[in-house]
Amino acid sequence: MTLLKLDNVCQRYPIGQKGWFGKPAQELKAVTKISLSLNEGETIAIVGESGCGKSTLGRMVALLEAPAEGTVELAGVKTAGLKGEALKALRRKLGLVFQDPYSALNPRMPVSELVGEPLDVYNVGDKASRKAKVIDALIAVGLSEDALDRYPHEFSGGQRQRICIARALVLEPSLIIADEPLSALDVSVQSQVLNLFAELQRERNLSFFFISHDMAVVDYLADTIVVMYLGQIVEQAPRDAFFANPAHPYSQALLAAVPEVGRGKRKRGLSLQGDVPSPIDPPSGCAFHPRCAKATDRCQSEAPKALMYGGDEKHIVACHFPSEVIDAKKFDCKEATV
Ligand code: ADP
Ligand code: MG
Repeated sequence: MTLLKLDNVCQRYPIGQKGWFGKPAQELKAVTKISLSLNEGETIAIVGESGCGKSTLGRMVALLEAPAEGTVELAGVKTAGLKGEALKALRRKLGLVFQDPYSALNPRMPVSELVGEPLDVYNVGDKASRKAKVIDALIAVGLSEDALDRYPHEFSGGQRQRICIARALVLEPSLIIADEPLSALDVSVQSQVLNLFAELQRERNLSFFFISHDMAVVDYLADTIVVMYLGQIVEQAPRDAFFANPAHPYSQALLAAVPEVGRGKRKRGLSLQGDVPSPIDPPSGCAFHPRCAKATDRCQSEAPKALMYGGDEKHIVACHFPSEVIDAKKFDCKEATV
């Protein structure tokens, strides 16, 4: 069953001082026309360099921001205009985990309160049952009852992130939104926390909206990969299809940076040069063209449409010259219906 559905979601931020009639001088397009869906129990991973709009998209999915355009549908409920109790009821289905487990935890609160706070907010059960739920959540993340009366400073970065995950789990949400949850951790503990996510995914029928710039992490966890560039989806595919046959030059360049990941043939000479351009004044045509080795005049002038790739209706690429499908058969690229 579909748990999350985004349809043509856009986000824009005003930039600079307001001019005449209160209109902002400029607008920054952080997210443009994103459509995707996520089934119950599945993981979608959003990848792309810093500044590509991943966190903005995550905040809209987390109902922390409303989109400027388009719709976010969660568990069959359209979220536009929801307020008060209706919004609160829907938020209960979401658990949020952010990058920095240091700033996410109030240093003055013991773990029992940090993890139990959502239960208080939603007025769940009595004191004893709340405590039992907090302990369950702590055990689920590999901590124990001993943690209850301790404070955040007594824990390592990895343990703090486990506390944040326990807090996200305590209301038994359907969807966990995790924004770069491993990036602030020591490399040595990253794999432990990654394994915890994989374990939670296996043991509970949880869905994950997982934001990462790390292809190895995504390879390990995701059912579906979404590659964003300057606010737009450039490629979307089931994991195996993506790693066997990355179609977009940007996806290939991201993968070229991590040679140990992936199963398909790796294209040579596609390393990424330069930085992501400013979304205030994005390049014409295909936004990736100034950094693309394959770019032609057409890429400069014409924005590519989303195409179905390799005969697979779940594999979508927005590129005029996607890589050839690594298969004896050649497929036609048809316009995708997203
Ligand atoms: P990512 O998470 O992929 O690094 P973000 O979603 O954080 O990307 O940012 C996308 C773009 O939107 C960036 O250029 C960023 O500076 C801009 N941006 C994000 N949030 C805001 C905001 N609240 N106001 C103005 N610009 C923003
Ligand atoms: Mg971000």
